[in-house]
Amino acid sequence: MALKLSDYKTPVHNDWCPGCGDFGILNAIQMTLADMSLDPSSVALFSGVGCSSKMPHYVNTYGIHTLHGRGLPFAIGAKLANPNLEVIAVGGDGDGFGIGAGHFVNTGRRNLNFTYIIHDNGVYGLTKGQASPTLKRGLKPKSLSVPNPNESINPITLALASGYTFIGRGYAYEVKHLKDLIRRGIEHKGSAFIDILQPCPTYNDINTKEWYGGEDRIDHDTGNRRPRVYHLEDEKYDPIVKPPGKPSELNKKISQAVSKSFEWGDKIPIGVFYQNETIETYEARITQRLPTYMEIPPALQPICTPSGKPLTLLTDIFDELSAT
Ligand code: SF4
Ligand code: MG
Repeated sequence: MALKLSDYKTPVHNDWCPGCGDFGILNAIQMTLADMSLDPSSVALFSGVGCSSKMPHYVNTYGIHTLHGRGLPFAIGAKLANPNLEVIAVGGDGDGFGIGAGHFVNTGRRNLNFTYIIHDNGVYGLTKGQASPTLKRGLKPKSLSVPNPNESINPITLALASGYTFIGRGYAYEVKHLKDLIRRGIEHKGSAFIDILQPCPTYNDINTKEWYGGEDRIDHDTGNRRPRVYHLEDEKYDPIVKPPGKPSELNKKISQAVSKSFEWGDKIPIGVFYQNETIETYEARITQRLPTYMEIPPALQPICTPSGKPLTLLTDIFDELSAT
């Protein structure tokens, strides 16, 4: 039976502020799952702590709302135990690039086949708008008493340096574009990272929907606004590194992604910045050591005999590994 958008909604009351960009991201995730007809029982959505981390409550899949900055360890643990599960992790910029930054970097090194979505609004919304690691230096949204004295991190270049093999950026109010981007991330074989520009109308009165939409930039000739956000696809930007992945090709794709990632202000690109199809997944690396891994991963293995004798003694597992 074909699945409908309503199959991915829950009756849980949503307490995000009116106009929050999180709603666009929620819609895009639900639309992606419906578009791909993914069985809700085959998808697990993990989150950390923050406004955006309430996402699993609102999406009808398995939902695991974990600890601040710790969504990734839970997500990749589940994916390792059951590689047949479609694993998506979500969280905020404070959650993922503050306390969770170490997990972000070390997850990228593995290229596990999963998707990580960050709601990037420049503030810690749930705790009243403190500056997050992506707030640009010198900005003073209404929640701060003084301008931010810290440099911001660049999520795209951090993801590149960490080894993510699919790196994209979306915008919360371009839901159809975002849906296509998330779908491409899920379909990519490897670790996909998607940074989503997400206005927080309650605490960040600088990077607003109006600002991204260019409402302060009216073209004198036409009277039309000139949006800051534009699509990489419109420039015929090609992010893909295809096999065999020649070093010259790789260098070119990395350089163009870095260059695009620093565009900000009057021109803000969204779309796929980088996609490397030449790096083997972590699942493939494990299968080289344990050939039965994909057929009988840990989640499908019996944990005890019919009489109750445990089969998960670590000593036995280590003995088996050292014999291979
Ligand atoms: Fe959204 Fe900001 Fe409200 Fe949090 S505080 S729900 S990010 S508008
Ligand atoms: Mg935030």
